[in-house]
Parts: sequence; C-alpha cells; structure tokens
Amino acid sequence: MNRLASFVRLAALAGTVAAGGLVNAAGGTADRMYVLECGESKTSDVSANWSPGVDVGVAREFSNNCYLIVRGERLLLWDSGMSDSIAANAAGVSAAGGLLTLWVRKPLAAQLEMLGIPPSAVTDIAFSHFHADHVGNANLFTSAKVYVQQIEYAAAFGPDAAKFGFNRALYGRLEGNPAVKLNGDHDVFGDGSVVILSTPGHTPGHQCLLVRLPGRGPVVLSGDLVHFAENWAHRRVPSRNFSSEQSMNSMEKVAALLAKEQAELWINHDKAQSAAIPKAPAAIR
Ligand SMILES: [Zn+2]
Repeated sequence: MNRLASFVRLAALAGTVAAGGLVNAAGGTADRMYVLECGESKTSDVSANWSPGVDVGVAREFSNNCYLIVRGERLLLWDSGMSDSIAANAAGVSAAGGLLTLWVRKPLAAQLEMLGIPPSAVTDIAFSHFHADHVGNANLFTSAKVYVQQIEYAAAFGPDAAKFGFNRALYGRLEGNPAVKLNGDHDVFGDGSVVILSTPGHTPGHQCLLVRLPGRGPVVLSGDLVHFAENWAHRRVPSRNFSSEQSMNSMEKVAALLAKEQAELWINHDKAQSAAIPKAPAAIR
C-alpha cells in the first residue's frame, strides 16, 4: 500500500463515512477471516440471466464462497452456500429450471470441522440474501443471531416466499433464532470492524458486507450485488433481479464506498477472482 492509500484509509477509519449513509467507523478491525468453498455452478448460456444481450450462448462457471469472520469471541458466518446435500451427487444437480448445474465438492460442515468449529459455535450469521446458493446450509446454525434486512425477512418468512425465489425448507429452522431486523446499514460489533451494507436490487433486502482486516485492509463481500468483474465494469443487471433501478443504485453506493475506503470488492461468483483468494484453513488477516 502506498503512503497516500495509507493516509486515505486512516482518514476513513478516523471519521464518519458519508457514502451511502454508512455508520461511523470507530477504527476496529476483525481478527481474521476464513474463505470457505461453498459449491460451484455452471450455466450453458450466461446471457439467459446474468449478462442480458451479451455473450449469448456462452457457457460460464461460477464460484460460490462462505466467509467466516473472527472478532474476539464472536464468529460471524457470512452466507452458508449451497446445501451440503448436493455433495451426494457427484455428477451435479440441475437447478433454476435447467439454467444451472450445481456441485458441492467440500461440504461446509466438514470445512468448519476442519477448523475445529461446530455449527453451534457460530455466534452470528448474516446472508447476502435468501436465494438457495446462499442459505443452503442455514438450518445448521440455530444458535446464531441473524442479521437481516426487515424486508428480506418478511419476504423469506412470509406466505409468498416462493414468489421471491426463496425455498423456505432451506432456512425455516432460523425462524426461532434471535434476529436483528435492519432497515439499512448496520455496524455489527459496534466498532466499525464489520458493517452490513444495505444494497437492495437482486432481492428486496440484499446486503453486502464490509470487513476491515488488520493487514489486508477493507474488503467488501459482494453477495450477488454483481456476479463477475465484467458485469461490474459495465454495471450489468441480471434480468431476473428484483429491481433493476435498485440494483443500479446499490452498485453506485458500493462503488463510492470502495473509492472512499480504498477497499477491495470480492465478487463472490467470479471464479477467476475467487481462485486468487486463499481458502481455509488459511486465514486472511
Ligand atoms: Zn448467488
């Protein structure tokens, strides 16, 4: 990091971050983060949803990660990946009306076990949104406090969950968890180390996560704000998103934050970018 970037980062940590109404940054950092591989998928035509009118008939593979953030005694899991049950089918499982084939080669539960973490030890959990590739193992985490936008919670646990593309069977056990229902950004630990960013559009209550790491610096975990680096560069909105207008606004909100914080954007489903990020058991600090 050059000196100017250091100065910009310190200045951002010291003061209020105005971009997108983000809460005060009190200078805290998470201790470390683990990136877990939580499934893979492939489409035979990326233009069918993710890049409308572009790359018609072109196949594309997607990565999918979960992120475990350690802050003192607290363990926050961000997204829970595709269901571990998919691992039983080595040839993959067809999903989204044949639009996608899914694989799980490393069950999440086994990866947590490798780190010595039973699901009951996860104290806090948040999802970028309630689509199946992000809440696939949610039911494992019945003792965690859930952080969710109120509008997403209402959609996921309401009578019309399926209309939003949500499968309640995957996360229904969380209905009894303590839940922090949000209407915007939220500083999870009150010290600026981990901040939920309200970024609606892909779903009604989609959110991203800003994680400030002591060495690596600030990182924004994208969820499905955007699926690939090219889509980010061209601000492409998938055709099946809940709201195109909200999607565009949310991308601009995050772009402003990245510039202000000199933060990295980790695009969850971008396979090439994900391949360059160290995976558990390596810790990112
Ligand atoms: Zn997704």
